[in-house]
Amino acid sequence: MNPIPLLPSVREFLATPRQLFIGGTWQDAASGCRFSVENPADEQPVAEVAQGAAADVDAAVAAARAAFEGPWRRETPARRGLLLFRLAELIEAHQEELAQLITLENGKPIANARGEAASAANIIRYFAGWPTKIEGSTLPVSPASGPMLNYSLREPVGVCALIVPWNFPLTMCVWKLGPALATGCTAVLKPAEQTPLVAVRLVQLIEAAGFPAGVVNLVTGFGVDTGAPLAQHPDVDKIAFTGSTQIGRLIAQAATGNMKKVSLELGGKSPNIILPDADIARAAKGAADGIFYNQGQVCTAGSRLYVHDSVLEPVLDELRRHAAAHVLGPGLATATTLGPLVSGRQWGTVSGYLQRGLADGAELVCGGARPAHLERGHFIEPTVFLDRAERACIAREEIFGPVLTVMSWSDVDDLVQRANDSPYGLAAGVWTRDLRSAHRIAAELKAGSVWINCWNVVDPASPFGGYKQSGWGREMSKHVIDAYTETKSVYVDLA
Ligand code: ADP
Ligand code: MG
Repeated sequence: MNPIPLLPSVREFLATPRQLFIGGTWQDAASGCRFSVENPADEQPVAEVAQGAAADVDAAVAAARAAFEGPWRRETPARRGLLLFRLAELIEAHQEELAQLITLENGKPIANARGEAASAANIIRYFAGWPTKIEGSTLPVSPASGPMLNYSLREPVGVCALIVPWNFPLTMCVWKLGPALATGCTAVLKPAEQTPLVAVRLVQLIEAAGFPAGVVNLVTGFGVDTGAPLAQHPDVDKIAFTGSTQIGRLIAQAATGNMKKVSLELGGKSPNIILPDADIARAAKGAADGIFYNQGQVCTAGSRLYVHDSVLEPVLDELRRHAAAHVLGPGLATATTLGPLVSGRQWGTVSGYLQRGLADGAELVCGGARPAHLERGHFIEPTVFLDRAERACIAREEIFGPVLTVMSWSDVDDLVQRANDSPYGLAAGVWTRDLRSAHRIAAELKAGSVWINCWNVVDPASPFGGYKQSGWGREMSKHVIDAYTETKSVYVDLA
């Protein structure tokens, strides 16, 4: 399998160690330290990036504060929108470059990386429309003292710390930068240590779009060295985090020091439900895509599949067929449909779950190993387990890999209870041709997104987020605008 050649601009980008962006200046970390980014397909280093620490976080927060209290405040909403529209154009113009960087550091197939870059442009464009539409209201107050005018204002919350993961290294940045910039906040962005490169390139495009210095600052580095000081920083007003539930808990605790506003988008173990009347071919394809897309490294992965008893065998046959049809290989080879996992650590975690699944008595339907033909890279076969007793840890814990656990069901009330019996509540799916069942079950499921006869549909116009331990708050849509603004109530005595 021949990989596509890297664009000259990408080769040039990788050849120079990449710096932090603080107050409009590219600079090395105060310590001078750097770290190396690995290509998960061949385990070779691809580039070096500055390794930020507390001193850099302090400088970045100070720059974000100065920009927030200074020029950015005075920009008109129309101008904020214009800058975001320009950024969307730039992302689109550099789509292939961004996609190649995503595949190099994350491993995903290039076609998916191109889709991610296209989606990033659309999300920024959606948020570009918001600045001129963020409005307050006039409110019918009833003071005893006489007539009063009361109105509300929506104001940016301030300096935002944006801490993002490696599974969608570009779109996770824009999901947070979009609303931060649309509302008039300033930002310190901390990408994941596995995937800082596309974030650096994005911030170069933000600079080129003409955002004033200090509005967006970038500190690359590790969780404990850079993420933690950012989460604790007394001059950060809001923190928006996507990542593991474990770290989300630490972020929430760190935020209490100065009572930062907190948005969290965390883990999931999402149930996907096939009813006996479903279009079985479509449902099984949807279930396979729902778990294997992005190598299963998706917070909304449909990792628990509940299949009605009467259609279990045909669904398992289809799942075997879809798993076997995947072409595993480096993401830069265009024939590849399933790339490596992001890192050796992630490979170790997922492999551990494969062993625990067998040890817990789950039956292996297909996959379950490292593909024999790939000597290097963090590859794992697309894997399906059947867990008749629903007792295996793989039926309950988030794996974040291409591993599906299938259970069967017969009674719908019992099914809904089992589907909801999880500490998570991010997404859920229902496959049926019956409208009544579809909407009834959708209403019962405790999940932030419910997909009926589809999976992984996400749109900036619709809210995204989790019930229970899957998170706090919602991203996208008007709901995220609330999360990045404070509301002020102004009373005017008219008596
Ligand atoms: P994973 O374990 O899959 O890498 P994490 O939740 O650890 O997922 O990482 C998501 C993001 O959180 C990354 O940018 C990471 O650097 C950051 N992070 C990790 N640990 C901490 C921490 N203690 N405080 C703040 N950020 C952290
Ligand atoms: Mg971690």
